[in-house]
Order: sequence, then structure tokens, then C-alpha cells
Amino acid sequence: MDIIFDLIEKERQRQAHGLELIASENFVSENVMKAMGSVLTNKYAEGYPGKRYYGGCEVVDEVETLAINRAKELFGVDYVNVQPHSGSQANAAVYLAVLKAGDKIMGMDLSMGGHLTHGSGVNFSGIQYQVVSYGVEKETGLIDYNQMREVALRERPKMLIAGFSAYSRDLDYAKFREIADEVDATLWADIAHPAGLVAKGLLNSPFEHCHVVTTTTHKTLRGPRGGMIMMGKDFENTYGHKTPKGETKMMSQVLDGAVFPGIQGGPLEHVIAGKAVAFAEAIDGQFETYAKQVRSNAQALSKAMIDRGFDIVSGGTDNHLMLVDLRNKNVNGKETEKALVLADITCNKNMVPFDDKSPFTTSGIRLGTAAITTRGLKENDMDTIAGLISEVVDNIKNEEVIGSVRKKVNELMEGRALFNY
Ligand code: PLP
Repeated sequence: MDIIFDLIEKERQRQAHGLELIASENFVSENVMKAMGSVLTNKYAEGYPGKRYYGGCEVVDEVETLAINRAKELFGVDYVNVQPHSGSQANAAVYLAVLKAGDKIMGMDLSMGGHLTHGSGVNFSGIQYQVVSYGVEKETGLIDYNQMREVALRERPKMLIAGFSAYSRDLDYAKFREIADEVDATLWADIAHPAGLVAKGLLNSPFEHCHVVTTTTHKTLRGPRGGMIMMGKDFENTYGHKTPKGETKMMSQVLDGAVFPGIQGGPLEHVIAGKAVAFAEAIDGQFETYAKQVRSNAQALSKAMIDRGFDIVSGGTDNHLMLVDLRNKNVNGKETEKALVLADITCNKNMVPFDDKSPFTTSGIRLGTAAITTRGLKENDMDTIAGLISEVVDNIKNEEVIGSVRKKVNELMEGRALFNY
């Protein structure tokens, strides 16, 4: 047998025994897994349902149409493109659809919680476009909408981005829209992280305010690794004529063209099938219970961390994640991540707002509850987890303590299935 399958088994064991606190990860269902590991991976299907460049697409047309219709129902939106291979691809398509190279964009600074594709200098978004950014207030850790407005009025970006990878509070999309309108900018929301909570109405909806919305499908949405683009009602009509080249096309056509043939070739129909399965699971009432539990767990974990003297940026969370500022504990993010991994607790080092350390070292870690909630952990387990993290942080170089924490982690996860629903 190919050694690859030994490695897959090794990884399955790692996932089963450990505490997964990476905010962008989750555990998909067995059915999502089945769809992804299916014969659909053999099929080329450049184009869109009913308009393909290859023969034999009748079945995948049905698969993709189902995925689109289920996503429309789940989010209550009028336009969906399920083809982006990843969140970054979905975002690249938005850039291509809305802007010309060299245009100015405005997103949340990476070091404040934004994503690479929101204008980081090492990403295409920061290489191909001029970038200005907004951030959070030093005292509160909350987005500074006044500063955002000031910068927008001064810099007049063509596109404003509402989205984050490491911000634990809800966004005021109406406020974002007000600012975008003042400077005639396109407003794009990237809900990659909180999509599952947005779908269930647990957080503000971006769809009535934002011209275009992108997401990943694999974080709180609990689907396969991938991306998606959506538009709410009316933007198709009111916004459909603004293309970068001055053409008069509907916005849906422009976005579809930006994905294929703009930045991608053949769609991954096996992943699109996995998305369709995950959307059906998310439409189901049980997913609402899950999403509520994700948020309750995040709030319980944040409180339990604060009780142990940890500094949580912004003082808490409205969603599934939190940023822990470790400066008062005299450890950095890098060494903490490493020590936690030795205790079978996975999270990622993360810069905190106004960090004085590099992105390779960082002063913080980011924790999320989407994955552990899928494994069945509840509020009372969050106190246990905060205690385990605290033990490691307080004994960061003590192998014996870390080993004893690992035992407790493995006991906590014992008997909890990876496929839980
Ligand atoms: N947008 C945001 C806000 C993200 O946090 C991420 C991933 O973490 C992405 C986009 C990119 O997704 P992917 O890793 O699928 O390209």
C-alpha cells in the first residue's frame, strides 16, 4: 500500500486525539467526505451549468445547480457562484470583476485582523493594487469606524472590504456602506470566518448592505475546503453596469466571467458536490443548534481564559474566535503554539493589534471553537480547556507538565467521533 495512506491514517489519529482550536478549521461529515472522494473528480466541466465547453456534463450540471440553489436558500441570496477553488480564489475574482490593476482598495490591516487577500504586501492584492487600511482602537480593540471614514474620505478607495481573519466582534455593515457610499466605493464583505453564524442569523447580515459577499466553505460553515461568491437582492440591477472596462454587463455575468475564464479553468465538481451536501446540512435545523453552541462555547472559553488572567483582545467575542494577547504572561505566540502542540492542543500564533513582534514570533494566539463544537464539547468543557492552556503557558518549558496536559487532552477527546453528525 502507498505510504500516503499510512500518513493519512496518522493524520486521522492526530485529529481524533487532539484539541483542535484553530479558528479556521472544522470536521466535515462523512457524506461531505464521500462526495469529495467520488468519481466527480474525473470530470472536466469548464463553463457553467447548461453552458459547458465539454461533453458529458449533464450530471455535473445537476450537481452544480443543486449546490447553487441550496446556497441561495441557506443565505437568502439571489446570486451564487460555487466554483472558486478557495476563499482566496473567490476574492481574486472579486478584484478582477470590480477593479483595474493599480486601483486603490481599503481593507483591515493584516496585523489588526485582516486577511492576506485584503491588501497585504506579499499577496497579489497588495502587489497589484494600491492599499490603504483601517484598524482597531488601541484602548478597546474594536474597529475604529471614525478612523476608517477619515482615511476613506482622504484616500477615496474604489473598493472597501468588510471582513477579517482575527477579529472577534460583529461588523456594522450599514456603517461600512455609509462610508463606501460617501466615496462611491464598492463594498465587499468577506465572511469566510463567520459564514456559518451569519447563515443562521446569529450575526449581522452583510447581504442587504454589501454589493458582493465572498466566503470560504470550510470554516464555521463546516463544508469542504473551497470558496463561494454571493450577491443579495437588488445589487444585480442597481450595480450591474459598473464594469472595470466600462462595459454594460450584469454584475452576475461579470463575477461569473471573473471566476471562469478569468482566474480558473475547470471547476472541482467533486468539491462542489461536497459543498451541496454541506449546504443541505446547514439548512437543517440541527445546524442552528450547532452554530449557537459554537458561539456559546467561544463566549465560555473567553470568560474562562479571562478568569485565568489572560488578556482577550476587545474583552470577549461575538463569534467563534478570540485573540489572546500573551504579553502579560511573558511568553510569545510562537513558543506558546509550539508548547501547546506538544500537549496535543492545536492553535495558531497570531499578531495582536499594535504588536511589537514579527508575524513569525507574534505576541498572541488565536483560538476558535468551530471544530471542538463539532466534536461535541460544551460550555463546561471550555473551563477545562482554559485550565489546560493555562497550565502549558505557565510551564512553557516543562516537558513533564506538558506531557501530563497531553494525557488529559487525550482523555477528554477519547471516544469522540470525528464524524459526529
Ligand atoms: N478570507 C478570509 C477572511 C480568511 O480568513 C481566509 C482564510 O483563512 C480566506 C479568505 C482565504 O481562504 P483560503 O485559505 O481558502 O484561500
